[in-house]
Amino acid sequence: MTSCLLCRGSKFRPFIREGEWQYLRCLDCSLIFLDPQPSKGFLHNHYQDYLPADDWGIESWHKLMAQVFAKSAGLIQNEIPVPGRLLDIGCGYGFFLEEMARRGWQVEGIEISATGLNYAREKLGLNVSKNPLPRPDWQDNCYDVITLFYVIEHLQNPLVVLREVHRLLRVGGLLLLRWPHTAPIARMFRPWAKRMKLYQAPSHLFDFSPVTIYKILDQLDFHKIRTTVCGWTKPANKGALLAAWLFGSFGEQLARVTRDRLLLPGVSKTTLARS
Ligand SMILES: [Zn+2]
Repeated sequence: MTSCLLCRGSKFRPFIREGEWQYLRCLDCSLIFLDPQPSKGFLHNHYQDYLPADDWGIESWHKLMAQVFAKSAGLIQNEIPVPGRLLDIGCGYGFFLEEMARRGWQVEGIEISATGLNYAREKLGLNVSKNPLPRPDWQDNCYDVITLFYVIEHLQNPLVVLREVHRLLRVGGLLLLRWPHTAPIARMFRPWAKRMKLYQAPSHLFDFSPVTIYKILDQLDFHKIRTTVCGWTKPANKGALLAAWLFGSFGEQLARVTRDRLLLPGVSKTTLARS
C-alpha cells in the first residue's frame, strides 16, 4: 500500500508479523493494516472454508455469538423501537437475522461463504444474497438498520463498503458495527503475539481503534457516532471462555458506569452511528 486508506499518509512502521504476513501501522492516524493484501480471488476462496460445516461447529458458532446478538438487538431496539427493514452484511449462518425476525423485523443478509449462505437459506429460510457490496442495482435509502458483526476487519476497502451502507440506509438510519480491538492485546503479549495468530492472517486486513473507527465514519458523513462494549463472545474452549467473560463483563461494566468514556482496550467494540 503506498498511502494509508484512512488519512492518505505514507509513513508506516511494521507492527506485527504473522507467518509470511506483515501488518503495518500508519504513523499519522495509527490505522493498522495487512500489507500487501491478498488478491480478491484468494480471499474469496479463503472464505469458502472459513465457517465450519459440521453440526458441532455450527452449534459452537451459534453459542459463541448468541449473547452478542441478543444484546445488539436490544441496542438497536433502544434506538429504533418500531421494527423495520434490516440488512446484515456477512451474516454467516443467519443467526442474528433469525433473532431480529423473531422480534418482528423484516430481514435480509449478504454472505459470500457457501456454507453460511446455504445454511441461512435452507435451514433458516432467510433471504440472503451472495453478492457483496457495492450493489449499484439496489435503491438508496431502503434500510432502517444495517449491521456488520466481525466483518469490517475482513474487507479489502472498508470505506467503499461503508459509503455504500450510508447510501442504502434511510436518512437517520442506524449502522451497527461489531469489531475486534486487537492491537492492545498484540502489544501486551509481545513477543508471543505473533504465535497467538490474533489476526488469523490473512483474514484480518485491518485493525481499528475507537479513534480510527470514528474518523472513518465521520469522513463518510455518519453522525451520532458512539462506541461501546456490548456483550462478549462465548468460545467453546474453557480458558478462552474464562478470559472472554472476565474481560468482556469488566469492559461492559466499565463502559456502562463511565457512559462509554472508558472503553477497555483489547475487548471487542460495538459502534453505532446514524446516516
Ligand atoms: Zn493513516
